[in-house]
Amino acid sequence: MVKKLMVSACLLGEPCRYDGGSKPVAALCDLREKAEIIPFCPECAGGLPIPRPPAEIQNGTGEDVWKGRARVVDRKGIDRTDAFCEGARKSLALYQQHQPDWVITKANSPSCGLGQIYDGSFSGSLRSGNGVAMALLLESGARIMTEKEFMENQNQIMDEEN
Ligand code: SF4
Repeated sequence: MVKKLMVSACLLGEPCRYDGGSKPVAALCDLREKAEIIPFCPECAGGLPIPRPPAEIQNGTGEDVWKGRARVVDRKGIDRTDAFCEGARKSLALYQQHQPDWVITKANSPSCGLGQIYDGSFSGSLRSGNGVAMALLLESGARIMTEKEFMENQNQIMDEEN
């Protein structure tokens, strides 16, 4: 069976990052012929423009955002929580529609981060936790790894039985 992977769009070279750039990973871009790839970008799906001011979760994690204990605020001080949550819900809907084997997600992002995210200080520092979209997908039982984990385990992942 062809492997089905839902992948953060910026890792596939789509210029959807806050600065209008992308973070292409050759190992993922090259998979387009061998696997079914479903790109997603929660921040764009939530209606945020490209480019946009960078945003980070203040005083918490993606899980805290869903519990109403933390907000996502951009560098200009504008609260972007609603857009981040809307994009996460749309990403979950895409996941439920396609039922991918794995979600490959961009490390550290306030939306896509897994295990570690920027700490809200806009200094490049990290804290433990998940981004807003990954917190929601994890709750739904999705199997998720960052692009770094994918690069370390890609042969095993592509060979595993569905
Ligand atoms: S929200 Fe995710 S997919 Fe979109 S640019 Fe940020 S890290 Fe990439």
